[in-house]
Amino acid sequence: MIWEMNYERKIGKVREKFEEHNIEAMLITNPTNIFYLSGFSGSAGYVLLTAEKAYLITDFRYEEQAQKEIPLHIFELVILSTKIIDKIKDLVENENIKKLGIETKYMTVDFYNELNKNLSHCNLVSVKSIIEELRIVKNEEEIIRIKKAAKIADLAFKHIVKFIKPGVKEFEVAAEIEYFMRRKGASKASFDIIAASGERAALPHGTASEKELKKGDLLVMDFGAVYKGYCSDITRTVVVGKASEEQCNIYDIVLEAQKRALQAVAVNMPCSELDSVARNIIESYGYGDKFGHSLGHGVGIEVHEPPAVSKNSTVNLSPGMVITIEPGIYIEGWGGVRIEDMVLVTEQGPQVLTTSTKELLEI
Ligand code: ZN
Ligand code: ZN
Repeated sequence: MIWEMNYERKIGKVREKFEEHNIEAMLITNPTNIFYLSGFSGSAGYVLLTAEKAYLITDFRYEEQAQKEIPLHIFELVILSTKIIDKIKDLVENENIKKLGIETKYMTVDFYNELNKNLSHCNLVSVKSIIEELRIVKNEEEIIRIKKAAKIADLAFKHIVKFIKPGVKEFEVAAEIEYFMRRKGASKASFDIIAASGERAALPHGTASEKELKKGDLLVMDFGAVYKGYCSDITRTVVVGKASEEQCNIYDIVLEAQKRALQAVAVNMPCSELDSVARNIIESYGYGDKFGHSLGHGVGIEVHEPPAVSKNSTVNLSPGMVITIEPGIYIEGWGGVRIEDMVLVTEQGPQVLTTSTKELLEI
């Protein structure tokens, strides 16, 4: 399966960026970027990428795992027998690297100081987004994994609907979703599951609490699975018991905004424009100030990654991007509604990856 991830191509693309950033090599310390480039999923690893060579550096705890996960015809596996900083110094000196790109966004001040002290003949260049930008467009194998993660989330929604009833705690809802997803092959939940009911549904990021569900509550559930390193993300809002007229009205507004934005997804569409498709609808009903977050975000190895689907985004959609569309209305003291789907951008139009029902369920 290793070849299907196209590691060679990904690494080639990073190297193509060296000149533009005026670097000869790059030290990659963000575990997410290391996984993207090599498949290594251990928590202690470093990648040093030069124009010719690629090193994956880890310690003995991860030796066997690295041998299984990384393409050994591309990477030289280095098992640490000394301190990491000494090994980096060795490699940088042996390769005669004078300009080294580093991911300053993902390292401690201590580690940065160590690099500075030990690589005194090498210029450290802060490189911010080479790999993050590559990650925006997914390849075929990545899309297969994301689709599977989305499928697991859909199955979990079907399951949880049968579990919800008055008296059940939000904690239990979240735990049941996670347990179910793991039994279906997820390695974990893609983030702390949100199960926010009643007044708490007005909290856009209301992680589950010990509050019990009661009749008449709106219940916002936002969750996702990680499958082979790739995430899904879905939100559904249901009513415990019978929905009131106001709940139905607000739900319909959010649903209209969500559906219209999904339909508007197209190659070359600016993300900022997509955000306004949904926002304009919600504003037209007078709830503009109750939709305080952006419309969506990219999903991949991380559940939130570029591109931001927001007012200020400068990204245009292109084939292979996977984004979420998740408008919401949140009213303090009353509750909230959010509906979220993941969508793959293709030349043929939007392909919605999460397919759980969006009818307002009264449970
Ligand atoms: Zn979500
Ligand atoms: Zn989301």
